[in-house]
Amino acid sequence: MKQKLTKNISTQNGATEFQVRLIKNNGVGLLTTKDEQNYLILDSIDHWYDLIQEGYPKKKKCACKNEYFFVHFVYTQRESTDDIGEILVETTCTNCRKISEEMSVGIDYSPTKELVENPIRFCKKPRIRYRFKELTSYWSVNNLKDFLQFIFFGLKLNVYCWFWKHPENTRRFEKVSFEKTIQIITVNHKYLNFYFSTGEFEAAHLIDIAGENGVYLKDGIWRKNEIIQLSAPTVMLGYGLLYYINYCTQYLDKGNPKDKSDQFEKITNQLHVWLRENFITERGANCFDGKEAYEKFMAKRNSVK
Ligand SMILES: [Zn+2]
Repeated sequence: MKQKLTKNISTQNGATEFQVRLIKNNGVGLLTTKDEQNYLILDSIDHWYDLIQEGYPKKKKCACKNEYFFVHFVYTQRESTDDIGEILVETTCTNCRKISEEMSVGIDYSPTKELVENPIRFCKKPRIRYRFKELTSYWSVNNLKDFLQFIFFGLKLNVYCWFWKHPENTRRFEKVSFEKTIQIITVNHKYLNFYFSTGEFEAAHLIDIAGENGVYLKDGIWRKNEIIQLSAPTVMLGYGLLYYINYCTQYLDKGNPKDKSDQFEKITNQLHVWLRENFITERGANCFDGKEAYEKFMAKRNSVK
């Protein structure tokens, strides 16, 4: 029988009314008291800082316009252990008493006692920024090949790929040669991400789960490590293929921004210069499109208007 336990959230000072900011897909959130003390829910400090670089979550507002809520966590035990398997975050509007189920957070580690005993953690500075880049590009296959050629032979980086191996259909993560890379992007593999780095890295440090269908990598490995990530393109219907490049030249160490190496700073600057020289930046400072792909994007955008 799965046991449930509900806990009404309050701070050490007894505050029970909070402004609520949640990043629901990632199971993290921030509670702010009336005297502007901030608390992160559960065990999310590193994750929180990573996620807010892309945008600070909005305050929850009730339909009645009130911004303050009582917060309750409903803990569900895992089958046949004392550990918690799921935590449901609920809010009650302090004005109209409307109850909402906000998000469910799955917990897969052990022990979990701390999550029950200390469900929220004081956070002195919830808004810390570090130097972070997200570049987007509409590219043709040839643009992608030029980019990869520069990564291999211009910047001389090590290239790793996380991909679906055909025909076994298993997820692989391995260091790849230029020839293999071209094969992956053009022939019969589906890839998830490419990773570029000056050093060699221990695959084992980056792998989260290794199972029958291959490996899953940890989230956001490019944030802490000196890695540039290129994601498999997103198909934007009618607009073409949109690629994302991510890297950051700082990382957070217990909430403090620290610089990555000078070498990594230099490499990412060189990459930026090369992108600016070879692509079109009409869509914005962080957008580097191929000429043809950009024209296709514009044609589609003008036809939609
Ligand atoms: Zn309300």
